[in-house]
Amino acid sequence: MQEKNYKEIEAGTALTELKRKIPYGWDLNIYRGCQHMCQYCYAMYSHKYLGSDDFFNDIYVKTNIVEALEKQLSQENWKREVINIGGVTDSYQEAEAIYQLMPGILKLMIKYKNPIIISTKSKLVLRDYDLIDELAQLTYVNIAATITTMDEGVREKIEPESCSGQERFGVLKEFRKTQASIGVHVMPIIPLLTDGEENMDAIISNAKDCGADYLLPGTLYLRGDTRKHFLAFMEEEYPQLFDDFELLYKTGGADKAYKTKLYVRVNALRDKYQVSSSYMKPMREKMK
Ligand code: SF4
Repeated sequence: MQEKNYKEIEAGTALTELKRKIPYGWDLNIYRGCQHMCQYCYAMYSHKYLGSDDFFNDIYVKTNIVEALEKQLSQENWKREVINIGGVTDSYQEAEAIYQLMPGILKLMIKYKNPIIISTKSKLVLRDYDLIDELAQLTYVNIAATITTMDEGVREKIEPESCSGQERFGVLKEFRKTQASIGVHVMPIIPLLTDGEENMDAIISNAKDCGADYLLPGTLYLRGDTRKHFLAFMEEEYPQLFDDFELLYKTGGADKAYKTKLYVRVNALRDKYQVSSSYMKPMREKMK
């Protein structure tokens, strides 16, 4: 693994308001850049605003994030809306083992009884199990693991610095013991590479087995820097798939007919294992 360059910065504000409530309205990201090195990462483009072209190795750390967050949460007009932690970059990437900013954030969420979603591909989230458990007794907490493949050979290529799919399910199983809801985000499904019946079946059956409240699938979207990077990756690592793959990606989204067929298969598997696709249900129950 290449050595990382950590660059400490100050955040003006901790929370970013989203234009579209989906259905949460706020994002919190501690780090800019991400060490998991997912070859399809949608956030790659954001690094050029920082003057860096190395999204995976130049990691910017918002060292004052806890103080900045408290300023926002303590405002009288703050309505305790759901905050999505790690919507752009993973808050439990390797840098978090060094900077340890999440415990301070979680303590604030407990103090203000603020509902949250944590999306991660990392086992490090287990370090904060007790804090997350405590918060889940007070308000809505959702722990979502993004799981794209159960094939370790593929995972080591597409997400080389993250943990295995099996370990991510292990994380969800632990949080199943708390009052947090747990979800599986099968995003992105990569045509020809991770969309096979065996892989989809393995992910959805594991989601059932760990008691996931919901499973959300989504196909790969390619544009800008991510498109350039991912096409080069496919050509290098999977030359035998490349031509067919490129044909499916004439535009940003995968070919429509392909997607229709894919979702028929995925929905059939969800029905077979009776895994819901509604992430709203646990939120509505806990927030009423
Ligand atoms: S974990 Fe998320 S932010 Fe990090 S590299 Fe992967 S896709 Fe990008």
